[in-house]
Amino acid sequence: MSDKRLHPATIAARAAGALNAGDGGVIPGISVATTYARGADNALLHPRNMYCRDENDTVRQAEEVIRQLEGAEESLLFPSGMASVTALFRTVPDGGRVVMQSGIYWGVTSWVRGHCARHGITLEEVDATDAGALGAACETPADLVWIEVPSNPWLKTVDIARAADLAHGAGALLAVDGTAASPVLTRALDFGADISMHSATKSMNGHTDVVAGVLSCRDRAARVWQEIARERHDGGAILGPFEAWLLMRGLRTLPLRMERMCENALRVAQALDAHEGIEAVWYPGLPGHPGHEVAARQMTGGFGCLLSVLVRGDAARAIGVAGRLQLFHRATSLGGVESLVEHRATIEPDSGIPGTLLRLSVGIEDAGDLIADLRQALGG
Ligand SMILES: *Cc1c(COP(=O)(O)O)cnc(C)c1O
Repeated sequence: MSDKRLHPATIAARAAGALNAGDGGVIPGISVATTYARGADNALLHPRNMYCRDENDTVRQAEEVIRQLEGAEESLLFPSGMASVTALFRTVPDGGRVVMQSGIYWGVTSWVRGHCARHGITLEEVDATDAGALGAACETPADLVWIEVPSNPWLKTVDIARAADLAHGAGALLAVDGTAASPVLTRALDFGADISMHSATKSMNGHTDVVAGVLSCRDRAARVWQEIARERHDGGAILGPFEAWLLMRGLRTLPLRMERMCENALRVAQALDAHEGIEAVWYPGLPGHPGHEVAARQMTGGFGCLLSVLVRGDAARAIGVAGRLQLFHRATSLGGVESLVEHRATIEPDSGIPGTLLRLSVGIEDAGDLIADLRQALGG
């Protein structure tokens, strides 16, 4: 049966059929060897494995699960989300041109700005949800267009298919950071993106105990993809086998976790939307959200675990509300089974993020308990 016909829950639960090749175990082992043996005839015992850098069966098994979930030709794991981002941007030639969505994950914005400055790459930052602005930016030829859907923490929802057309018109590749959606909700390649990126540190692993990142492509023969693959092999930015194994374990329940997280996040968003202590709720699942229609087209099975709220009052009030929460850990990151809250302006003081903004990552707890906790924190 071709993987195209299987649903994500089936691919994930059986880890794309990975077995322990050594003992037939239904759960694969962790392949820890750093080097691989040759036979008396000098041929490698396992033709794909000579040396551990970039040649590891555990990493390949985790990549195969992701490749099938993404509907990709190939997926490559990296030791962090940022390592996967940098692997892609390093393929942009010195003196090239990049169009990047504004108001996205701060770590990407700040690294890309520095990288482009160091390499004479022209960087244009645009609000990519504004089709006119993105269109104007794509009138000049470019190498790469980078969007994040939905964006963190503004929850803006770019139309991926339209962005792909504009990028391709500029001769550029479209890459999509889909971390907040996960491949279960949005397969960016299906909408015309060339490369899909996820921080697997977030919902893909889902248990807040692995750092990893992944790139997936629609065309593995493309020059940029070949360069990324060669650089990973030669440059050595590889994921360790223990992390790959834990990630594969997490991936087995990704569709199930996403289902509950989306359900919970929608209920939390609706409850907060109706609360007088909240000025605004940004969640693509709410019909009033400016990106709701696009999100409904691009997301299958829910609108994700991430939402931002503006607390009525000032920054001190928002920090006070976060301080009174008992079931949300006050911590950065998202996509884990446990709910988190973060006062984003503390992390990005100069990025224009409102001081009253709290970002919530909603986990798999009981939604009623989470809503009651938010109500008591807002009541104080
Ligand atoms: C966390 C995150 C990253 C970076 O991933 P790391 O695994 O922390 O390096 C990139 N993009 C988004 C949207 C993220 O949330």
